[in-house]
Amino acid sequence: MPRTYSNTACRLYHTEYCRVLNMANCETCTVAGRSKADMEALVADLDALKALLPEDGVEELFLSDRCILCKKEEPNPRTCYGLLDLGNREPERVVRSAIGLKTKLRAGSLLPVQLAACDACKKRFTKLDYVVSLWVGVAGVLSIALLSYRPLREYFASFFAAAPFLLFVACMLAAWGAGVLIRNSRVKRYAKHTHLDVMEIKKLSELREKGWFELNPNGRYSKLIFSKKRLQQGLYTGRTKDGDAGSQNV
Ligand SMILES: [Zn+2]
Repeated sequence: MPRTYSNTACRLYHTEYCRVLNMANCETCTVAGRSKADMEALVADLDALKALLPEDGVEELFLSDRCILCKKEEPNPRTCYGLLDLGNREPERVVRSAIGLKTKLRAGSLLPVQLAACDACKKRFTKLDYVVSLWVGVAGVLSIALLSYRPLREYFASFFAAAPFLLFVACMLAAWGAGVLIRNSRVKRYAKHTHLDVMEIKKLSELREKGWFELNPNGRYSKLIFSKKRLQQGLYTGRTKDGDAGSQNV
């Protein structure tokens, strides 16, 4: 259903700015009630943000009914969304730190991005996220279980007192190393099927050229949070191109 907005007195009422903000309604709108000057500052910020985006916006990333993470020619149907935050140095913003020093913010603009995704791609990202902690967790439980067996612990302690503890630490390090190796080999394997570095997706590479970067870089693959539903409100999280402000009616 298209959203309806009731506050006809609002500076942003029925403007593209309102569509871009994509608030659920006027009552819970986070910018409602701001002073005239603050509203003009907001409008200037939104203009600055728009200048940093491709002309056709970013909505094709979440309006696509096919997974945009899939690399195959016929991508799987969309079943969920992968969310990440992008930052851009522009516009430059200077803030005062607690001790009064002026510091430049790493990101003058923030943009939440939602990527149409499928279960297979989601599974690959999730497996990469958990493989190291899974190995460390299992090794931790097993080594504690073994060392809590007194004859075994005493056998190791007979070499020198700290031997059981060092053995435990060695097991954890070995498990961590194994987890990292397995994750790295999975990255190679999964990258044949899924855009693990989402910034290589065409639309996101356009954003990269305009100075956008992943706000939380994650090394060999992008850090995505998956959700069944799209974000209900927020900057550029709804349609901005048609007349119906922020419709979630995909
Ligand atoms: Zn996919």
